[in-house]
Amino acid sequence: MTATIIDGKKVAAEVRSRLATNVASFTQRTGRTPGLATILVGEDPASEVYVANKRKAATAAGIADFHQHLPATATAEDIAAVIDALAQNDDVSGILLQLPLPSGLDSSRLIDRIPASKDVDGLTTMSAGLLARGEPGLRPCTPTGIITLLDSANVPIAGALAVVIGRSQLVGAPVAQLLLHRNATVVIAHSRTAELASLTKQADIVVAAAGIPALVTAEHVKPGAAIIDVGIHRTDAGLVGDVLFDEVVAVAGWITPVPGGVGPMTIATLLENTLRAAEAISAASDL
Ligand code: NAD
Repeated sequence: MTATIIDGKKVAAEVRSRLATNVASFTQRTGRTPGLATILVGEDPASEVYVANKRKAATAAGIADFHQHLPATATAEDIAAVIDALAQNDDVSGILLQLPLPSGLDSSRLIDRIPASKDVDGLTTMSAGLLARGEPGLRPCTPTGIITLLDSANVPIAGALAVVIGRSQLVGAPVAQLLLHRNATVVIAHSRTAELASLTKQADIVVAAAGIPALVTAEHVKPGAAIIDVGIHRTDAGLVGDVLFDEVVAVAGWITPVPGGVGPMTIATLLENTLRAAEAISAASDL
């Protein structure tokens, strides 16, 4: 058996093309343009690349760019003032504070200054609470992208046993909630989990987000299961994930590659969230 490879690049391109159409019709209908404000603090080279990619994708989709770059010496008060101004600006639909912040800054407190209505990264306490309660809100991008990938391949989620490896606020915890809301039976494994393989071996869906290269091998996988690899690791041989792809592809029913699986979905979902935020803000202001 060879798994169906879920092509994240292709799915993300479809999402982005549909989104560009939806942005254009939103703009035509309302006379407003969705706007995304990325905030970069300091000169971290990886963050600069991530932010540049997000801005480029947003602009290509017809979303206005409200990028803000602050020096590494910016204080918490400086950053808070920028967030507050963007929160007040009606032309800005979404605000994204790029992490990590320079050391010494409390990222949780600063992220929580972003109003939930503009929290396109879905990382504020309010957004996490809305997700936990299953109430409408903006959801974190990588976890939402994972659900989009599963749906694109028609992987059954309702009633499936899903094992999520990792419990971070960025990936593991929210993807577990999203799977639960789709009526999967969800087990969350983490660094203190005993007998990981005995759990994953029973799973219909495995989401590997531990940040450990090749953690998931053929021994961890039930034949026919859907394996979503969130990990990204730079090695001499190129990018690899948390899943030993060459082995697992022979056992699984579906698998996402690294690169070209979950990665491209994160930005596509950020753009979707920005349009969703613009629509909600527009509907609220029409009341
Ligand atoms: P993190 O370090 O915050 O969390 C890792 C989690 O894995 C923790 O909850 C920990 O308990 C768990 N864990 C560690 N060792 C384990 C083990 N042996 N068995 C089971 N669980 C274990 O990382 P994160 O931010 O959630 O990211 C995870 C991975 O996903 C990283 O490789 C990161 O680079 C990648 N990532 C990719 C994207 C993307 O867009 N593709 C986005 C975010 C993160």
